[in-house]
Amino acid sequence: MSSQAELVAKALSSAPLMTSTDAISADDLVVLALFAPASPSRPEAHIPQIVGTSVGVSGLTLLTIRDTFEEHKDLFELSRASTYLAAAKKVRSALVRRRQVDGGSDRGCRALSIAMLDCVEWFVAAYAMVISPRSVVRLGVSKMGAYSQKGFGIFARMDIRGGVDIWEALGIMPGDNESRHSSLSAIRVADGQNQEAGSERVLVGPLRMVNHLCRSFNAEYVYIPRTSAFIARTTRDVVAGEEITVNYGEEWFGSSCPCVDCAPTDGMEAVVQSIPEGPQEPTNHGPAAAAMEERRTRLAARNQDRATAFLDNRARNSEKAKREKAEKNKSKQRESRWRKQEAKRRQEMAAPADASGSGTGQGAL
Ligand SMILES: [Zn+2]
Repeated sequence: MSSQAELVAKALSSAPLMTSTDAISADDLVVLALFAPASPSRPEAHIPQIVGTSVGVSGLTLLTIRDTFEEHKDLFELSRASTYLAAAKKVRSALVRRRQVDGGSDRGCRALSIAMLDCVEWFVAAYAMVISPRSVVRLGVSKMGAYSQKGFGIFARMDIRGGVDIWEALGIMPGDNESRHSSLSAIRVADGQNQEAGSERVLVGPLRMVNHLCRSFNAEYVYIPRTSAFIARTTRDVVAGEEITVNYGEEWFGSSCPCVDCAPTDGMEAVVQSIPEGPQEPTNHGPAAAAMEERRTRLAARNQDRATAFLDNRARNSEKAKREKAEKNKSKQRESRWRKQEAKRRQEMAAPADASGSGTGQGAL
């Protein structure tokens, strides 16, 4: 018997091929709109903090998509695939209407092409699965290895046995490779997929939120036959709360792999926050972060020492300069006093000569 998530995933996996440019933009757009923190009072200040490098739209566009999704959120229940898929269509229709209302302005949904809105519908449907309470997994924020960066991760909501397909962790390959992307976000087409086998394609959608582990991973990517879609399949039993991880392959990170298998963090728990409720301000965890913090403190202390030394030195120098100036002044005064005295003395000495009538002194006038 198929789960509703399976029906949704299969329906989404048979969607027409997207272009990589639209797919990458729409993926970033939907992730930002649904999960990035926004400032309600300043919609333009909606800061893309997560992935979006491809999104060239205003905060207002993101906010419109977010609001439209929120209005329809309850329909994404995963209790009936048809209702669920219809909800995504409703979101698209509402955005098309907003696009007409936004009219000549280049803000809001006007900035989105119809092809883009088709993609937005797809990604809204795909991402709503990983935040649905009925999903076996949920989107969360994960501490990613030794660098203590935080990023999205997919976590088990319940115990999942090995060999089980996680339909909610869906990814799809666009039909081309035209858009700029990193090799980390690409995947090879396999035989039995509806694209040229062996070619490299970008992988987009919730599946790309599954993080890498070299050894203790618990899942693998498997493709849905005759489609461009992938899902995650558990390779061993997974307990509730555990992060779903796959091995991206040894060439991904080479010898400097930052995953917790390669750079253990003393059994620190992965930081799991619920999405979208959870704040996503970056915070630091783990010994690597402690080391970073220590280094930062040390550097700050060193800089402080240097600053203090510099200021002391400058004060000393200025003190010295002041003393020298005072000394100079004193000696000038002394000199001028001496000159005056000398002049007076000469005058006095010359005074008798004045009486003889040839002097230059005052007394002679
Ligand atoms: Zn590793």
